[in-house]
Amino acid sequence: MKSVLDIEGVYSYTTVLMGSPILLKLFKFDEQLVSHIFGVIKHYEDIFTVNRDQSEVMDINHAAGIHPVSVSQPVFDLIKIGKQASLIPHSSFNLAIGPLVKLWKIGFKGDKVPPDNEIQEALLKTNPEQIGIDIPTKSVFLLQQGMEIDLGAIAKGYIADRVRDYLLHEKINQGLINLGGNILTLGAPTGFWSIGLRKPFSKKKDQDENADEQFVGTIELENMSVVTSGIYERYFEQDGKLYHHILDPKTGYPINNELDSVTIISKNSIDGDIWSTLIFGMGLEKGYQVASRKPDLEGIFLTKNHEIFITSTEKFRFKLIDESYHIVDFNSRNK
Ligand code: ADP
Ligand code: MG
Repeated sequence: MKSVLDIEGVYSYTTVLMGSPILLKLFKFDEQLVSHIFGVIKHYEDIFTVNRDQSEVMDINHAAGIHPVSVSQPVFDLIKIGKQASLIPHSSFNLAIGPLVKLWKIGFKGDKVPPDNEIQEALLKTNPEQIGIDIPTKSVFLLQQGMEIDLGAIAKGYIADRVRDYLLHEKINQGLINLGGNILTLGAPTGFWSIGLRKPFSKKKDQDENADEQFVGTIELENMSVVTSGIYERYFEQDGKLYHHILDPKTGYPINNELDSVTIISKNSIDGDIWSTLIFGMGLEKGYQVASRKPDLEGIFLTKNHEIFITSTEKFRFKLIDESYHIVDFNSRNK
């Protein structure tokens, strides 16, 4: 763990977990508290991960088509939430996407476009209806052999919410949690936190120490979560085409529409994590309408041709930085 005090009296504690930079900002020096919190995050990583041979989720995956597996409350809860989101009509969120994620290996060594017949074969093992859940025994049974659950799209949101609960329980109501870009803010002494909305495809600090971070704008808010799903977070290029890590559960290929990213502002980070993926998959037209209709969340849409669409700024303020972008009113846009 690294801890640094900045001029505003904010202590920043950093580490790396879940393959991502983890940042906690607090207004007091308490390495014991933070090391407990990092331990909790590590515990969740250990039970949720599918990037190792053993975890609670891997136990479920290994038993696919064979037998149900009893799991701990957090794993059970997260799978229940994920299954529900997967069953929303036309959902592009799918908890059972594992076989496709494994096939594409996007963001991991050896990523390349898989043969189409293998994609079609993997698709047959991604039906979320085939995730059996039994409440009395807290067990999960993947009914078909070869099925694999992947919590990659929602684990960080769930964990961020648990860290917030813990901080509030410890009577700490000012601070910020950043789990690899999944941000949850508590209160701030100034009345708001200023969160940078990264410019798509610009370098990140953790990729290149000397890179200047580039932001499209800043989002000012407190006691809210900010989560982005975008095509520029993890991807590879082959034959001049870009393949990113959010897959279309219908086709088995990366989702391809006019959007670079969707950012969701919500109370709970789990909602932001689910809906950023879901709404990203709907594209601008449908996604904007769905986000507008849901009272508990707001959306910021960045299109490939540098337009910004914002559902409402009642719960936050958006300040534009990058002048190559333009805020466009959804109802007066050119279709
Ligand atoms: P990150 O914050 O790591 O960028 P996201 O929340 O955007 O992640 O989710 C992307 C991850 O979710 C992928 O790396 C993969 O593990 C998983 N995933 C990919 N496509 C889907 C999908 N359609 N539904 C659910 N999970 C997905
Ligand atoms: Mg997500």
